[in-house]
Amino acid sequence: MAIDLKPQSAFAVAQQRLERAAQVMNLPDDSLRMLKEVKRELTVHFPVQLDNGSVHVYTGYRVQHNISRGPAKGGLRYAADLTLDMVKALAMLMTWKCAVVGIPYGGAKGGVTVDPKALSKNELEHLTRRYATEIALLIGPERDVPAPDLGTNAQVMAWIMDTISMHTGHSVTASVTGKPVDVGGSQGRHESPGRGITYLTLEGLKYLRIDDETPTVAVQGFGHVGASTARLLQDAGLRVVAVGDSKGAVYNSKGLDLAALREHRQYRGGVSGFKKADDLSPRELLELPVTVLVPAARENQITAENASRLQARLITEAANAAIAPDADDILHDKGIFVLPDILANSGGVVVSYFEWVQDLQAFFWEEEEINTKLHHVITRAFYEVLHLSVNKRLNMRTAAYALAVQRVANANSVRGIYP
Ligand code: NAD
Repeated sequence: MAIDLKPQSAFAVAQQRLERAAQVMNLPDDSLRMLKEVKRELTVHFPVQLDNGSVHVYTGYRVQHNISRGPAKGGLRYAADLTLDMVKALAMLMTWKCAVVGIPYGGAKGGVTVDPKALSKNELEHLTRRYATEIALLIGPERDVPAPDLGTNAQVMAWIMDTISMHTGHSVTASVTGKPVDVGGSQGRHESPGRGITYLTLEGLKYLRIDDETPTVAVQGFGHVGASTARLLQDAGLRVVAVGDSKGAVYNSKGLDLAALREHRQYRGGVSGFKKADDLSPRELLELPVTVLVPAARENQITAENASRLQARLITEAANAAIAPDADDILHDKGIFVLPDILANSGGVVVSYFEWVQDLQAFFWEEEEINTKLHHVITRAFYEVLHLSVNKRLNMRTAAYALAVQRVANANSVRGIYP
């Protein structure tokens, strides 16, 4: 028998997860068919003049999966391996993420197939401004609002906002979120994914009645999300015993000195070799006997291959799709409680929503108010998902998807089909 060795399409995986949720909620077939496809997919090819005078033609995308509940919302990724299939999958994920936390957006994603580290700052700015111009026919405060994702940051968002504003003739600060505070960004936006992950982890521990005196934590990934999550969990009284990045990991059973580790990483380019801890391999970190594991690096880190060896009691899936679909049932059977990505890392999009609201009303809130509102939205979503999970005997991922899919299907249904 021939074996199919083709890697599974990310969009096909996203569609399978949708189908499972639709089945649980007894969604009518017509409704499922409408949700299975993306609404719009734009591919652009555009030239950029590099510093040496040569011209390179890049490919970029903007995909809107669904806009029934409000403007499309989703990040921009600059990555060498970015494909349309991946962008479609991530756009669909954004629809569910916004719906599960109950913010009035649809889902979108975009980006450029490029290694941003291979470009100078000048080249990155030219690439960004031209890409923004190419997708300008789709984006805008009422239509589709981009934000940072892997390979992009607040500076890239400022260039996009400026480009859209130049075309419009006045400052359109609400056209993107994740901007610097100086140009309409929100207080607390930078740390918001880590803060949401922290709030949810604490609720998860409470629900599981884990009464260890000091729960222990391992965090995979020490970038934007991983580093702030580690610090905020430590501030909340948990003991962060292991942290890893793409090159290595470090472990100290008494807890890591995170400030010293950040300094070490700046100097050495990675966490390995940190004097106050033992080195581990990045894979070993995932299998430590900790209370909480936070995969905050990349997709497909927990698979059918290693899931049975995991020993954590709670996994907060900070990175999108860190857990492969074939690992979900194994973790469930082992009794490991999983806070799934669409819920776990929604803190970023919730505070993006606050940023957009502040830009539209031109009135800005203090950080304390942002964090209080974030806590309210995230905790409400946690208990809504938990309620469905317990009532329908579903794992938390299926429950989160089911809740989100039902909300979007309701919006489609009540709006009806035009014309
Ligand atoms: P980042 O690039 O700042 O950090 C990624 C970290 O993961 C780095 O420390 C890197 O060394 C490490 N890493 C990469 N490959 C690894 C591997 N194979 N094993 C172990 N470590 C590895 O990225 P980020 O912004 O922190 O994003 C991390 C994840 O969180 C992504 O999946 C992203 O989509 C998701 N996310 C990010 C945001 C955001 O606002 N930045 C919001 C929600 C979700």
